Amino acid sequence: MALREGLGPAQENRQHPEHHTTTVEQGRFCLARCSCGWRGPARRARSLARTDAEGHARDVRQP
Ligand SMILES: [Zn+2]
Repeated sequence: MALREGLGPAQENRQHPEHHTTTVEQGRFCLARCSCGWRGPARRARSLARTDAEGHARDVRQP
């Protein structure tokens, strides 16, 4: 088993690009972003942005 240093577990699955969502703050707002380029709407609460991210991750994982 080869060790590939410098690559996190997220980058090992290049054949299956995953959707890694994060929340970023933009001024007063917070919005969800995904590694696929998707962006959620600006929210005033981070919890809402996280809900957007979870919703996106759920949508893209549907078969
Ligand atoms: Zn995505």
